[in-house]
Amino acid sequence: MKYAVFGGTFDPPHTEHLSMMRHLLDCGYDRVIALISGNPPHKSCGTDGEVRLAMLKAAIAGEERIVVDDTELRTQLRYSADILPIIKEKYGDIDYVIGGDSLINLHKWSRPERVIKICPLTVFIRGDDYNRLIDAKRYWEDRGAKITVMDYTPRDISSTLIRYAAMLGIYRDVPEKVADYIACNRLYDKYDAIKSELRLHVKPARYEHSLRTCECAVELNYYCKLNLDYDKVFTAALLHDCGKGSSQFDILKSMRPLAPDADFEDRQTVEQVVEYDRSLAPSDAVGKPVEHQFAGAIIAKELFGIEDEQILDAIRYHCTAKPDMSDMEKLIYCADALESGRNYDGVEDLRALIKRDFNAGFAACLDRAYSHVAAKGGKMYYLTEQAQQYYNK
Ligand code: ATP
Repeated sequence: MKYAVFGGTFDPPHTEHLSMMRHLLDCGYDRVIALISGNPPHKSCGTDGEVRLAMLKAAIAGEERIVVDDTELRTQLRYSADILPIIKEKYGDIDYVIGGDSLINLHKWSRPERVIKICPLTVFIRGDDYNRLIDAKRYWEDRGAKITVMDYTPRDISSTLIRYAAMLGIYRDVPEKVADYIACNRLYDKYDAIKSELRLHVKPARYEHSLRTCECAVELNYYCKLNLDYDKVFTAALLHDCGKGSSQFDILKSMRPLAPDADFEDRQTVEQVVEYDRSLAPSDAVGKPVEHQFAGAIIAKELFGIEDEQILDAIRYHCTAKPDMSDMEKLIYCADALESGRNYDGVEDLRALIKRDFNAGFAACLDRAYSHVAAKGGKMYYLTEQAQQYYNK
């Protein structure tokens, strides 16, 4: 018997996991061992091992030649260098299957030289990293590894994208039984409370736009390889328009007034913040400040308890933009402009551009917004004027 050992966290197992496993069987392996990890060192896995195991079993139900192995889960051994000898002892002739991303990062694993000596590696290309994968293949082959790259390129999806989509109530790219399991057991529901609170404060159309902005922001973070913290991205996108509800304005008006020398962060009312922001503008600056972004940052902090400055800044400048923005700020700005409900002329081109080149896509989004306001004869807020000079001139 020839075994392919397919390790993963399976949080949740997705359709490409299954396609890869089936492809391995088509390519001559007699069995695929789906090896579920316990507490992997390279990622924080928020979902209980037993829950992931139940999902994996649901995913492969009816697949007679795919076998789930929970040795890693039971032993809590964390490293392939420790678990693979046990698996080899158990099954005999094994190849270890990994995604191209894992091969590229093999040097960061614990004792990779030992891993490559235990058994041959079988690799699936992941995303557009083909050249880096081939470099890594050569590097490890020079050190004695036996590596085969499969001729099947899976769709570029990940469990991370699926989890965050599920947090929005979207169950995609998972076998039906897994989708049912997620829904019935209310997995991935950590944002339900904040979503319910937001729904109370903004109109239904605004709420739906916020969810679509979340979806877009999470996908851009993944496909543009920004490596931003997904929870921060999700929170900033979800709350970016929380300043657009009139009820919050009433709340803010009743907040304590501050001393005149209080700095930006301590200013509590929208009027105070806008007045302060305008005081920073050059004397010839024109334009009406876009209050809801400032209100949003205050509300996110005061009502939703968000303390993280990266998130608050992304909300604070998501409408006007500004010079020298962080990736998080640019991401929320673009997700707001490119979410799936937007259908203005040129939006598809912008969506394609940003996936190729994040910074070029951001600059083009800004340029489009600037031209749009200019064409309407609107006066530009000074931050937008400065941002346009900074990024597009
Ligand atoms: P996460 O998004 O949580 O990091 P994941 O989608 O990578 O999860 P894992 O369960 O960790 O899912 O994946 C198991 C194995 O499958 C890993 O070796 C991973 O590199 C590989 N893999 C997962 N999805 C793909 C894909 N779309 N293309 C190629 N390889 C993949």
